[in-house]
Amino acid sequence: MAEARATLLVIEDDAEIRRFLRSALAAEGYKVVESANAHRGLVDAASHKPDLAIVDLGLPDFDGLQVIRGIRGWSPMPIVVLSARAREHAKIEALDAGADDYVTKPFGVGELLARIRVALRHRARSREGVVVLVLGEATVDLEARKVTRRGKDIHLTPIEYRLLACLAAHLGMVVTHRQLLTEVWGPTHQADTHYLRIYMKQLRDKLESDPLRPRHFVTETGVGYRLVCDD
Ligand code: CA
Repeated sequence: MAEARATLLVIEDDAEIRRFLRSALAAEGYKVVESANAHRGLVDAASHKPDLAIVDLGLPDFDGLQVIRGIRGWSPMPIVVLSARAREHAKIEALDAGADDYVTKPFGVGELLARIRVALRHRARSREGVVVLVLGEATVDLEARKVTRRGKDIHLTPIEYRLLACLAAHLGMVVTHRQLLTEVWGPTHQADTHYLRIYMKQLRDKLESDPLRPRHFVTETGVGYRLVCDD
């Protein structure tokens, strides 16, 4: 499996967590590069060109948010935050800075590995140019802009389609309210989260088997939404 040989950069000042991550990630077949501070992390990100970075926010020299912004300045590599900051505000800040996902400490290694797999798969998909998503009974062809459910065409309004396309561009990963509002409605609507609730409900009604218990259009409470597709 190609993704098992991926190189992961771990930017984390806690030596014990680094040691734990090194052995857990190596056991999955990943190559691991470790950086103990933010400055080193930025240097290693540029020199090792890892396939994904795991970034702690509380770093001794400067904040992990600056590391995220720094990497985003030149690279689309997936960034998964691993932080003790569990408040919604901290997650939103990191995601808006350019992180793709967020795992809070104390963390389960299974959850972290799952997030890493999703992020790497997403990267592979965008390289291969995969454009058809399967969401249970529904199929979304992003190139043809065609949505079907049990073989029947489903009509989406332009706004519904843009919202779906924006989530699909970050498939499997969290997209914040602000990102969605900016991309779909424009920068003057960053605070209009009620738009999202309305249109998300419409998408769920049209595409989820059980709109009240959505499997694909998943709410990340207080933070945003995540589109989960079937493999
Ligand atoms: Ca730390």
